[in-house]
Amino acid sequence: MFEFLQGKTVLVTGAAGFIGSNLVAKLIPLGAHIIGVDNLLTGRIENLAGFLDDARISRVSNFEFITADVTQPVASYLPEGKKIDVVLHFASPASPPRYQKYPVETYLVNSLATHYLAEYLHKTNPEGRFVFAGTSEAYGDPQVHPQPETYWGNVNPNGKRSCYDESKRLGETICGVFYRDFGLDTRIVRIFNTYGPNMDPTDGRVIPNFVMQALKGGPLTVYGDGSYTRSYCYIDDLVEYILRMTCKEGLAGETVNIGNPQEFTILQTAQLIHEAINPGAEFKADFKPLPSDDPTKRKPDITKAKQLLGFEPQVQFAEGLQKTIEYFRPIYAAVS
Ligand code: UDP
Repeated sequence: MFEFLQGKTVLVTGAAGFIGSNLVAKLIPLGAHIIGVDNLLTGRIENLAGFLDDARISRVSNFEFITADVTQPVASYLPEGKKIDVVLHFASPASPPRYQKYPVETYLVNSLATHYLAEYLHKTNPEGRFVFAGTSEAYGDPQVHPQPETYWGNVNPNGKRSCYDESKRLGETICGVFYRDFGLDTRIVRIFNTYGPNMDPTDGRVIPNFVMQALKGGPLTVYGDGSYTRSYCYIDDLVEYILRMTCKEGLAGETVNIGNPQEFTILQTAQLIHEAINPGAEFKADFKPLPSDDPTKRKPDITKAKQLLGFEPQVQFAEGLQKTIEYFRPIYAAVS
């Protein structure tokens, strides 16, 4: 399945982030040489603790880590002319509170950095492969449900979420230009809500918020009346299919949704997390105003991922939730 990676040099941007660090962990045994880059704006170095010593020197022969900002030209952090075979561009703040705290960094990393990285690959190794972390936020507040890749979305170009949504959309544009006009093998994965180990417990997203609040005994902060929906994919499923998307021949220029189509309301999500952590205890919600431009619903149409990649999510929400709770439990114990 992943033979393509044998002997390849893979640059992972956002390597200390939630998805980036899980990609690195999955890549290390697959025979590639991995260069992880992160400026640690929202990435957490502890996500790579298994592979790095305190000086951030790798303990693993086929992994190296560079602390750098990919919104700067590639030559500022890679040795001159360094040959890269695969770029996995996963650097970006990703939770709404975090990308709203860092709007400029967010729009630059998804636009300018995408350009710099694609341009570098095209110049130094035109046969290279470029995989971009797209997002379900490209669909905005969708008027088509579930969302297929052919849907162009309903995004506010000048709202609180647009620094992320619109720059991810521009990142897709850049991938499209490099594919169509310059012949580079670019591929886009549109990632729907994902959860699991290495998430930042303080990033403000719904799963870490609810798990940390339930570990405290509640209440859980539900925005609006809790009727909005999301569909949650466990990180191992996501990473498996990002790498299939990376390795399979003949997918240049393709855009594929990856997410788990099982849909929950936010209130159901809160109740399930409460019940998993405090079974039998009274459920308490703290209802708060909805943030602006919060998409009312979200669910991936995964027909294309099934056809092209054989995508079949393996981890059900209850199982993934247990693993996520076990990841957060010691973190909660340390801060409480
Ligand atoms: N949400 C909530 N309480 C929280 C955090 C989030 O009700 O403590 C809601 C949020 O308003 C949204 C959904 O949960 O409708 C998912 O939010 P998240 O920040 O995880 O990411 P999004 O899918 O909106 O990008």
